[in-house]
Amino acid sequence: MKASIITIGDELLIGQTIDTNSAWMGAELSKSGFDVYRITSVHDKREDILYALNEALGKTDVALVTGGLGPTSDDITKQTICEFFNTYLVSDDEVLRMIQYMMSRRNFPMNENNKRQAEVPASCRVLKNAVGTAPGMWFEKDGTIYIFMPGVPFEMKHLMTEYVLPELNKLFTSQIIIHRNIMTYGVSEAQLAENLTGFEAGLPDNIKLAYLPAWGIIKLRITGTGTEKELILNKVNDQVSKLYKTIPDLIYGENEESLEMVIGKLLKSNDKTVCTAESCTGGQIAHMITSIPGSSSYFKGSVVAYANSVKADLLGVSQDSINSYGAVSEQVVKEMASGARILLQTDYAVATSGIAGPDGETQEKLIGTVWIAIATEKGTVTEKRVFGNDRIANISRFSIAALNLLRLQIIND
Ligand code: AMP
Ligand code: MG
Repeated sequence: MKASIITIGDELLIGQTIDTNSAWMGAELSKSGFDVYRITSVHDKREDILYALNEALGKTDVALVTGGLGPTSDDITKQTICEFFNTYLVSDDEVLRMIQYMMSRRNFPMNENNKRQAEVPASCRVLKNAVGTAPGMWFEKDGTIYIFMPGVPFEMKHLMTEYVLPELNKLFTSQIIIHRNIMTYGVSEAQLAENLTGFEAGLPDNIKLAYLPAWGIIKLRITGTGTEKELILNKVNDQVSKLYKTIPDLIYGENEESLEMVIGKLLKSNDKTVCTAESCTGGQIAHMITSIPGSSSYFKGSVVAYANSVKADLLGVSQDSINSYGAVSEQVVKEMASGARILLQTDYAVATSGIAGPDGETQEKLIGTVWIAIATEKGTVTEKRVFGNDRIANISRFSIAALNLLRLQIIND
């Protein structure tokens, strides 16, 4: 069961509109057991549309196409479809009545462009669009089903959920696909792949592993395919258990869980509180923690100690330490954490001091260097990490590294 997706529209190719239709349709097709084998975006241009339609012909069971169905002259999909399917446009009375009804409800006059929207290729099955003016169209040619829908995302979703997906599920005895996502942090993608060489070699044929990295967090997606749900589910679960045994220290959660969510749960269940003292991360860690609903029960506040004077005056970092070791140092970050913990009266305090870049590099301290400290009742732990040259990426990576160190500290306590 193969499917392809074609999106039509100049705006998609010049970066004006993000092609969210493909992502949504891809996810839905995949849930219905289709192997989405190609996504193509083309201009509102006859030759380009014909090229994309031909590419799917005979190669995929289904081709979902969106865009180019508007009432204006830039949308030329309908004429091109007629050429491809060797048919002609006819006015559809029912579609015309629906458009008339919609226009009158909104108090808009009907013009020639609206009337043209009721024209559909003679050989297609019309999919009524209850939320917009352009109907969907269903064709078959040489073993491939082509379904054309408007580009407007909510109109496409309406047609997909009302007609397209239920019909496709009926026509194709569904292959079942089951995913489970395991969230990891701590090593690079290359290192993780090395750790998992044996695990990957032992995967059964119908179970696949994918690596999806972002800012040091690597999501491992285990996918099982087959026709019997229980069987695949068990196989996927077996592999996940094996994964937990193979890399126990690197897994922090499942599905779309973030570190801040996991930390929230840990702090809540242990009845502990946290605060942050942030130099190079500028409050991002506090922002991440407070983006979780209910964080007020464990997060007390933050000191964004960007200037050395704030580190000294508010957090009590000694001027001697700043002069002797510099602001980006183990000693200073330690004092920031322990100072914040006392000032804000929390169980834990997270502190960061680093060089996000693009300037500020010295011979001893590279851009991308960060010192992280977690102060606890028992003392303070620190960690030095070195990342890349991109400022925004560094701020995210520093914050995530700090959250992970906090997580490990809470678990160890
Ligand atoms: P159209 O059907 O070509 O008239 O498209 C109508 C509107 O839908 C466009 O102006 C876009 O804003 C939006 N749109 C079209 N294609 C896509 C797509 N692939 N993903 C997200 N939005 C889209
Ligand atoms: Mg368009």
